Amino acid sequence: MSNTIQIAVRTLVEHVYSSGSIDSRFRSQSTMLDGTRIHQEIQHTYQEGDQKEVYLRIDLPYKDLLFTVDGRCDGLLVRDGEITIDEIKSTAQQLESFGEDGLPVHWAQAKMYAFIYAKDHQLQGIYVQLTYVQVESSEKRVLKKCFTIEELETFVNEVLENYYHYAKLLYDHRKERNESSRAVGFPFESYREGQRKLAAGVYKTISEEKSLFVKAPTGIGKTISTLFPAIKAFGEGHLNRIFYLTAKTITRSTAEEAVEKMRSCGLCVKSVTITAKDKVCFKDETKCQKDYCEFADGYYDRINGAILDIVANESTMNRETIEKYARKHTVCPFEFSIDLAYAADAVICDYNYIFDPRVSLKHLFDEQKKSTLLLVDEAHNLVDRGREMFSAPLNKDLFLQLKKEFKGVNKIIYERASKINSWFISLKKNVGELNEFTIEHLDEELVTLLTQFKEEAESLLLQETSAILLDLYFQVNAFLKIVDLLDEHYVIYGERNKNDITLKLFCIDPSKLLHKMGKAFRSKIFFSATLSPLPYYQDILGGQTDDYLLSIPSPFKEEQTDIFIKPLSTRYRDREKTQQKIVSMIHSLVQNRPGNYLIFFPSYKYLLAVYDQFIQDFPELHTLLQGAGMSEEEKEAFLEEFKPNQTETLIGFAVLGGVFSEGVDLKGDRLNGVVVIGVGLPQLCFERNLIKDHFNMKEKNGYDYAYVFPGMNKVLQAGGRLIRSEEDHGTIVLVDDRFLQRHYQELMPQEWRNFRVI
Ligand code: SF4
Repeated sequence: MSNTIQIAVRTLVEHVYSSGSIDSRFRSQSTMLDGTRIHQEIQHTYQEGDQKEVYLRIDLPYKDLLFTVDGRCDGLLVRDGEITIDEIKSTAQQLESFGEDGLPVHWAQAKMYAFIYAKDHQLQGIYVQLTYVQVESSEKRVLKKCFTIEELETFVNEVLENYYHYAKLLYDHRKERNESSRAVGFPFESYREGQRKLAAGVYKTISEEKSLFVKAPTGIGKTISTLFPAIKAFGEGHLNRIFYLTAKTITRSTAEEAVEKMRSCGLCVKSVTITAKDKVCFKDETKCQKDYCEFADGYYDRINGAILDIVANESTMNRETIEKYARKHTVCPFEFSIDLAYAADAVICDYNYIFDPRVSLKHLFDEQKKSTLLLVDEAHNLVDRGREMFSAPLNKDLFLQLKKEFKGVNKIIYERASKINSWFISLKKNVGELNEFTIEHLDEELVTLLTQFKEEAESLLLQETSAILLDLYFQVNAFLKIVDLLDEHYVIYGERNKNDITLKLFCIDPSKLLHKMGKAFRSKIFFSATLSPLPYYQDILGGQTDDYLLSIPSPFKEEQTDIFIKPLSTRYRDREKTQQKIVSMIHSLVQNRPGNYLIFFPSYKYLLAVYDQFIQDFPELHTLLQGAGMSEEEKEAFLEEFKPNQTETLIGFAVLGGVFSEGVDLKGDRLNGVVVIGVGLPQLCFERNLIKDHFNMKEKNGYDYAYVFPGMNKVLQAGGRLIRSEEDHGTIVLVDDRFLQRHYQELMPQEWRNFRVI
């Protein structure tokens, strides 16, 4: 029916009954893992005839809406003809913290399941049981009550009455949204070349519930060409939510602007931007504890009011708006934005809210994912981000520091830290003089020591605060979480640094986990100007053989860019030899073609060497130098120097793969030329070599996977800064003899292949 609201039991009762404060100390992932373990342990004790993980569903008409409520109860116990619904709740806190009678939200969840079952089986009464378990001690407390069907019916009506106002607000909005989505047209006068093809590809992919990998050139308007067909899919009933995922603030703003543009054409959508916690936090320190932060204290008591207020009054829920309402209702702006994501039509956020198992949105259930689209912008970044999200390091020195700090303060923590420190010392002895080494299997003893440490740290952190203990506690949690994921896609390696030693669970091939995390979503669109070669990205980003691949040619004319190759060696060993030639080449380029230039170097050291010589030889020329660790203001000031219609030449020296080589938009003649020194290969290192060896063993070209593809990606990104519109003209100089090799040329866009050698 068209007035249906589909909702999970847990979401419904949490909306109505949640109360209390945010406390990051207890919200660790490891506790959730323990939760799964404890659920399984309890379910293991069930008797014959009992059932676990029972799916329950009911349609509940209420006023003018029909609520379809579903979920899985932990246990359905049958004793002498009596039925009991069991709800298991594990906790790191002492069981007393739930009070004598348990928490109302837990009872509500269990009672909702009990009602669905009783109604379905025409029972007059049913038992409801809460089984609380303390994760560390496995101490158990069981609370049990009997309810008549009338009592449960009254309870369910109260829940629906409490939820109705919010549900109706969302329902009315979605109706309006779908109508406006059908009516809205492409928000520009006409499609640019390539845009229609991209939009059609995205729409077809959504309709067929597939995934798509697209290489679409810079400047064609990828954001609007992917968002517009997604918005149209709302009206067709294919989608209910879009996640626009991006790694950079600048692309986040572009997505916000695209949504705004469609809004100005009559589209009615509610969008939320999630800003990182440390950026949006209102406090000096991000200590999410009720005794420190007033925005954490009582958060769940006030959050429903805050959500209702903002959803009723705003469509654009960006950082500014969220902060305004967060202050008004005294709620944490970060948690507020996460809660709003469940109510929004479009969510603009970083990759990790979907792909990182440690921070992904936990209440996005599979049922909702089926009507959700993922738009993954600048998807080439997801390869290394994926590796980072699924990997975990552990550092010996921190345990040593902790040991020193807790000596004579807390005996158990001191002993736990000492044992782990000793484990690292014996590892160091075993590997002898090796500075880098791999380990076949993770020592079970280390896992046991870490688990014991974590449990002890958790208990202590409930009572007192210690920055180093908290840091290490999170690091150990993250490490243990990854331990559960270890398989042939991982390598375990260690690195020594003087007396310190770091052990890393390194996800060498993120494809399996990226696929797993994105699996339940209706469709995924991975797009970038530099998804080249497409089959490599399809492979490493977890694509499947039936995914679509699309390559959109550049809409710009070849005549807009002059491409030159300067075949000098920029290999490490030759850099000193060719430095003077590079300096002279840059000088003659700007003499012959005055204008604004960006010169990209593969490392900061190399950049400084050439820069120093250049300013010594040509002090009269206006140069800019990318600084190490520039602030946002410094970056802006650097780019501000690239002004249109400049009479004087400007040369910016920057790092390839750095802040100025991606996502920078210098339109028109703010940028007249780009010089790329080298083919961008990442520095030879142990980790990169592990990647190379791994893919070689898989009978793929490991050198390409570890070095050439990521390197050329940076080159293409840097070159892509030049031509941003039909009016732009400019020069690209590629400095390296390897650019003349066929293998590298095959990775260049078609419009770069008509080059001249200088
Ligand atoms: S305002 Fe800052 S400290 Fe307070 S709960 Fe939010 S993120 Fe944590």
